[in-house]
Amino acid sequence: MIALSREYPSVFGQPVIHAVDPAIFGYRYFTHCMACDFCGDSCCSYGVDIDVENVARIEALGDDFEAHVGVPRAQWFTKQRWTDPEFPGGAQARTRVKGGACVFLDRKQRGCKIHSYCIANGIDYHRLKPLVSILFPLTFEGGVLVASGELEDRSLVCADQGPNVYDGLRGELAWYFGEDFVAEVDAIRVSHAAGQAKA
Ligand code: SF4
Repeated sequence: MIALSREYPSVFGQPVIHAVDPAIFGYRYFTHCMACDFCGDSCCSYGVDIDVENVARIEALGDDFEAHVGVPRAQWFTKQRWTDPEFPGGAQARTRVKGGACVFLDRKQRGCKIHSYCIANGIDYHRLKPLVSILFPLTFEGGVLVASGELEDRSLVCADQGPNVYDGLRGELAWYFGEDFVAEVDAIRVSHAAGQAKA
């Protein structure tokens, strides 16, 4: 792990990143998800962890969103909540799985129905789509930015294709953690690459 010069809280207060795993500069994935013709949206098969504040924002949406999802709102999230200080609000729920995929997966047109609702209504999708979904296949563990387990064990169907995962998600990281954050991680990548070249 490589420590950062300071802690970088997300725009939602949590998570707070203080270090990065340099492996994120090496792992690759397809990146352009809606252009992928071979994954079958498999990464949305299991549902996703979602912070309780995001659950509240989604549950506050009206009947038009419920109609867009096509699943009754009572079936969107697990009733159980898990304490997790790394998530905004200090706790998380999980989106439910129905018929072999997340309830929010668009099975006809592909993609995420939270995302498509945001686009159709002029809403910044970062406000409603789960943070874990947007950053996938990067994630955070104990304040360290790391690759998701599916990249590490190569179980992600599009692993080893496309750009490296940091480049693929750099813009999303900048949105959550700021331009100073990605500038510092950019510099870490350069020095890490130089160190590897010398070795
Ligand atoms: S919330 Fe959207 S992106 Fe995340 S797992 Fe569900 S369908 Fe996929």
